[in-house]
Amino acid sequence: TAELSRPTSTRIFVVANQKGGVGKTTTTVNVAAALAAKGLRVLVIDLDPQGNASTALDIEHSEGTPGTYEALVEGTALDRLVSPCPDFPALTVLPASIDLAGAEIELVSLVARETRLDRALQAHLEERERAGDRIDYVLIDCPPSLGLLTINALVAAREVLIPIQCEYYALEGLGQLVRNIELVRAHLNPRLDITTILLTMFDGRTRLSAGVAEEVRRHFGDKVLATAIPRSVRISEAPSYQQSVLTYDPSSSGALSYLEAAREISEAAAPVKES
Ligand code: ADP
Ligand code: MG
Repeated sequence: TAELSRPTSTRIFVVANQKGGVGKTTTTVNVAAALAAKGLRVLVIDLDPQGNASTALDIEHSEGTPGTYEALVEGTALDRLVSPCPDFPALTVLPASIDLAGAEIELVSLVARETRLDRALQAHLEERERAGDRIDYVLIDCPPSLGLLTINALVAAREVLIPIQCEYYALEGLGQLVRNIELVRAHLNPRLDITTILLTMFDGRTRLSAGVAEEVRRHFGDKVLATAIPRSVRISEAPSYQQSVLTYDPSSSGALSYLEAAREISEAAAPVKES
């Protein structure tokens, strides 16, 4: 199947939702893998001390492995911290180890505490571009909270991708996320925009899933991708083999739906830059 076309400039997504277990990490990993499988150059930033995205992409992240903590707290250049995913050489990863758990507290007393990821990322993007290796997509996987780690991601990104689980109370708590995004936009990052909503763990057999999907579409309109990710055992099994579902079971409905979601994302226009 056809390759996806490259965006005119790097698109930076934060994958956010302060609820745990809604599919943030699964979406980060599989959208990133799908974009890379289609010929694009992708960077995944693991901002969750759990390091689940690092695990799924088969990147070393045991305690003491340099990664996001060193970038944020020590100011180490990303060039020295990222490594390629074995399955997709065009996909590089900034890994998170458990050391990152301390960063939430340590950041509080550091200068420019909200903009440290932004600075580190911009320097890396410039470096890669200079080296003739421009990155097309950056996906930042967030922890399930709205603390300084997530704030750093919201400041570094231009687009917010919100995965919403097709479950009871799916929209509960989203108001808080939206208000935080507004605050970041007002004070720290005027270019931030919620561009993409992805329905996850959709079960076509239940009225509940259909009802949630309908409510989310009513609320967010055409930001909601036409593709919903089905609830699929293959998707949930893949990380325990350190794989995306695209390599674990390429013909599964989960793999096909993430490929389709990635195609939709690549076809949507990036928000127009202000100023
Ligand atoms: P979050 O990062 O928001 O906490 P995860 O991506 O880790 O959420 O997903 C939570 C759990 O649900 C994980 O065990 C994951 O494997 C599983 N999961 C995610 N998406 C699906 C899906 N489409 N079908 C089945 N299980 C899924
Ligand atoms: Mg996660």
